[in-house]
Amino acid sequence: MARHSWAEPYKIKMVELIRMTSREDRERAIREAGYNTFLLRSEDVYIDLLTDSGAGAMSDQQWAGLMLGDEAYAGSRNFYRLRDTVEEYYSYRYTVPTHQGRGAENILSQILVSDGQYVPGNMYFTTTRLHQELAGGTFVDVIIDEAHDPESQHPFKGNVDFAKLDALVERVGAAKIPYVCIATCVNMAGGQPISLENLRQLRKWCNRQHIMLVHDMTRVAENAYFIQQREPGQQDRSIREIVYEICSLTDAATMSSKKDAMVNIGGFLAMNDPGFYEQACALVVVYEGLHTYGGMAGRDMEALAIGITESVDDDHIQARVGQVKYLGHRLIDSGVPVVRPIGGHAVFLDARRILRHLPQAHFPAQSLAAALYLDSGVRSMERGIVSAGRDSTTGEHHVPELELVRLTIPRRVYTQAHMDVTAEGVFSVMERADKIEGLRFTYEPRMLRFFQARFEPVSYSDCIPAQ
Ligand SMILES: *Cc1c(COP(=O)(O)O)cnc(C)c1O
Repeated sequence: MARHSWAEPYKIKMVELIRMTSREDRERAIREAGYNTFLLRSEDVYIDLLTDSGAGAMSDQQWAGLMLGDEAYAGSRNFYRLRDTVEEYYSYRYTVPTHQGRGAENILSQILVSDGQYVPGNMYFTTTRLHQELAGGTFVDVIIDEAHDPESQHPFKGNVDFAKLDALVERVGAAKIPYVCIATCVNMAGGQPISLENLRQLRKWCNRQHIMLVHDMTRVAENAYFIQQREPGQQDRSIREIVYEICSLTDAATMSSKKDAMVNIGGFLAMNDPGFYEQACALVVVYEGLHTYGGMAGRDMEALAIGITESVDDDHIQARVGQVKYLGHRLIDSGVPVVRPIGGHAVFLDARRILRHLPQAHFPAQSLAAALYLDSGVRSMERGIVSAGRDSTTGEHHVPELELVRLTIPRRVYTQAHMDVTAEGVFSVMERADKIEGLRFTYEPRMLRFFQARFEPVSYSDCIPAQ
């Protein structure tokens, strides 16, 4: 039977109370936070859509799993359960736990990337690219052009453009490319999927060039859902089957289990090659912990293993993506410019089109995120020029085409009424968009600046000559 509702396949057993704030509270809070939503205290936030990272609700099964923690320093039973679950659901033979995704990226980049090499990927991710750069590499964007166009309705904006890959090989030679990094449900493109067809072709391309294929699998289940919904011939396959196939087309993976796998902290590096595994085991002890816990408690590995099994459930993923789509379509129906199609984990507001009067140098997305918080206590995140950072060699701003505000929906946390309140907040900000001022840095960190940067408003008198 075709289901038209995305109603949740769970009910609520425990609630966490949240505080409603007044306009004055919020004015004080955003000023103190330097107009950066990352610097707000969570108790000053009503609906927290900063990120879906580690903010999900664990199931009763996962909470029960915490009680099964085997906190042995070495060889915890929970590690073996995690390793077996990763192999069963994701195909990778070896698993190295890490404290979160970037811990895995660090180890991966240190082992595979060396000075003067190039790492192509389907759009950058902030921490992923930085680890590649710290290891001496240069990231090269090989995603299709449609991914940079918020209005393009391409069903698989996460696809790789083979002409761009070929051009890179032509320019630098295959020997300078240690691996291709492929993200499923590309975060920075708006939670946009890669198609199975594109991935299968990429596998063949990598085989021909003798280049490894590494998978940033943070949102693989959400990607599998879009494949099931949109790709010809995939409708009758389960999410679990599609997830397994995606993983088995790649050689290794980094995972932030704070996303798809619904735990509050954790991640891993996984691979099939025993030599690579040996190297990863040697490095993980330096940065994370012994190779059988890598910065995770035994109980957290248990909850993660359970979360993986829940994440590939068809009903779960339909409700998860359904809720995001619900918010997205409420905004679209009222004419709010958002990235289309609606992605898997978030709705991305097109700040460039909402704040047409602000040049990118005055950080429209950062300004919009601050304005939305002020209006309704909804916390969102800038994904534009501030997140893009500076070029590590020239020191100039990276200037992305996408200047977005991300409304990220944590898994299994908020209700449909919360989505309605969020939409109303966006409508209210849209109504007075032309009054929203731009921002300028008062403090700019050197790396991953978006996390801790501080700003102040650029008043109109600074940019428009007085009449
Ligand atoms: C979150 C994320 C990471 C990094 O993972 P952390 O657990 O935050 O360290 C890497 N890649 C993508 C696509 C992500 O969304």
